[in-house]
Amino acid sequence: MSNEPDLPSTFSERHAAIEARIRAACERAGRDRGEVVLVGVSKTFPPEIVSEAIRDGVTVLGENRVQEGLAKAPLCPSAEWHLIGPLQRNKIRHALSLFTVLHAIDSEAVLHDLARVQDETGARADVMLEVNVADEPTKHGFTPASVRDALRAALSDGVLRIVGLMCIPPWVPDPELSRPRFRALRALRDALQDEFSLALPELSMGMSSDFETAIEEGATYVRVGTSLFGRRTAGAWKPERSADSDSYFLQP
Ligand SMILES: *Cc1c(COP(=O)(O)O)cnc(C)c1O
Repeated sequence: MSNEPDLPSTFSERHAAIEARIRAACERAGRDRGEVVLVGVSKTFPPEIVSEAIRDGVTVLGENRVQEGLAKAPLCPSAEWHLIGPLQRNKIRHALSLFTVLHAIDSEAVLHDLARVQDETGARADVMLEVNVADEPTKHGFTPASVRDALRAALSDGVLRIVGLMCIPPWVPDPELSRPRFRALRALRDALQDEFSLALPELSMGMSSDFETAIEEGATYVRVGTSLFGRRTAGAWKPERSADSDSYFLQP
């Protein structure tokens, strides 16, 4: 996806480079470094490499598939795991056993089931609603209009902790072109806060190609994969078949 010309060869050098860029973006925006969490997107990378990342101080890992995270996490030192991909209804229980933050909840049906499972099990996660900011037909996420209805329904359930919004804007070669999308997500967040008299402190936006722009526009979580771990390749790490098959998961 992103073209990363000259990635340093060791993890720790790549991490230091990202850290410096995060700090510089925070400074430009007059923000504290502490306001932005780096989510190291470890999907497709094996537990040995993810373990190295954790030992190097990447304490929050992002996976986009429930089964991959569940299979990988026990093989790594302790860390905070976030689900950055969409959650399917039949995987909610399993997701809640590992992930503390769900970045990309994209339907009222999932919100409804999530509330029910949380109610039954007592398990809790922070929830962000994914918004399809560019209105792309092929993408997941609520439209800016439907996110209102979803939020209204979710609030009436009472048990959900909705903490903010997330977006994945269309890939563009120049991160400047993503700026209006990030700005739109923040404006939508501000409007929803007013409308519902509710705090929505978190904005999950920005990836390898555009995380600095996202920070300048108010991101509190940046999800960085390629610039941190290197390019994802075919033949990447996959969980064992047993954990990968759908039969591994219970119905909601
Ligand atoms: C893979 C992924 C990322 C990381 O993308 P990079 O361009 O490799 O940094 C971020 N967010 C989501 C939702 C992803 O699936």
